[in-house]
Amino acid sequence: MADDATVLTFLNVGHPTGLKFTLEHRGRRALFELGLEHSPGAMPFSLGLRPRPHRELADLLAVGMAPRDTGVLGEWDGVTEVFLSHLHLDHTSLVRFVPPEVPVHYPAAMEELRRDCVASGHLRWRDPPGNPVPEGGLVRLGGMEVRFVPVDHDLPGACGFLVATPDLRLAYTGDHRWHGRHPELTAAFARAAQGVDVLVLEAVGLGRVGEDGGDSRPEVHELDEFQVEAEFERVLSRTKGLVLVNLYPMNRERVAALAAVCAAHGRRFLMEQEAAAMAGWSGCWDEEALAQARRHPSRFCLQLGFASLPCLIDLEPAPGSVYVHSNGIPLGDFDPAFAVVRAWAEAFGLEFTVVGTSGHSRPADLVRMVETVRPRLVIPVHSRRPWALRVPVPVLVPEAHRPYAAPELLA
Ligand SMILES: [Zn+2]
Repeated sequence: MADDATVLTFLNVGHPTGLKFTLEHRGRRALFELGLEHSPGAMPFSLGLRPRPHRELADLLAVGMAPRDTGVLGEWDGVTEVFLSHLHLDHTSLVRFVPPEVPVHYPAAMEELRRDCVASGHLRWRDPPGNPVPEGGLVRLGGMEVRFVPVDHDLPGACGFLVATPDLRLAYTGDHRWHGRHPELTAAFARAAQGVDVLVLEAVGLGRVGEDGGDSRPEVHELDEFQVEAEFERVLSRTKGLVLVNLYPMNRERVAALAAVCAAHGRRFLMEQEAAAMAGWSGCWDEEALAQARRHPSRFCLQLGFASLPCLIDLEPAPGSVYVHSNGIPLGDFDPAFAVVRAWAEAFGLEFTVVGTSGHSRPADLVRMVETVRPRLVIPVHSRRPWALRVPVPVLVPEAHRPYAAPELLA
């Protein structure tokens, strides 16, 4: 390949998570995303097994959960700079192992959430934190330009990227959707990306339809965020007992929506301390609050994460109480912990109901993205079923660690 050509390499194709890729041009290198794959029960360190203290990076490298060729883990190669699209752990978990001199660029709009998640103890980060880039901001690496463009996802401050080099124009969506509270952001990203050569498309949503084989099952109807709020309203209207909810605290808009519905129904919405700090919510429960909730279940809605499930023993939920699963961890039945949650709900006679929606585009919206952008080539990543993308432009399902030079991508 010509020395001048831009080269795209996936270090982890992210099937289903843990996506990482690099773009190299004339000795400068941009690394996109630096998280850990989230596959409970399928990765060496999962289900309670953790890297050992003081040798965490070595352990993660040894089992392949951290790639060896990032150029920024443990020591810096002097040429690679890190670009992060949003704060989710499958995009950021390894940042804590990046040496302080490495440039780490991330959306300024996620800074408040990042700071609060670090302060809460949920997230560990590198010191200094890095370079917050404003919406629409541009970072130059030699002849490469990386522009930060906001998209809608299920947490504050998510972005995609538009990258231009002398021989390649590439758009990377980052995690995104069209059915959240800000579809106009995703639509604006798609318009801004129009006519790029290559679209790297986050395609988690392809994994949910017809997962057991075949592409012909009808699309599963999924709520939008406004319908999630309306569904909270319905659950609270019909529930006489205690309401317990498991949601993802980084989804601050979801937390605020639920809190507002609780207030309208005369219920105090209280969260675990760490979760509240992540969510930017001021109401926390403690033992005294749990005792009150036991006495007056109809006046409370409590956020209860997986590790706090044993609190049900003290809460003694009254008949007519409900457990609302709202995209908290465990995320779904691919996680062995999901059956454990169901077992706790059953043991305490709780109605188990799911009220939530994905942070990722539905299959039809992935097609909409491709048809709006009209790239010469689309590369679906971050999906259990990338090959299921059906669009009227050429599709490349990439191999990890194989360099793709611009002339090959555009051939
Ligand atoms: Zn995400």
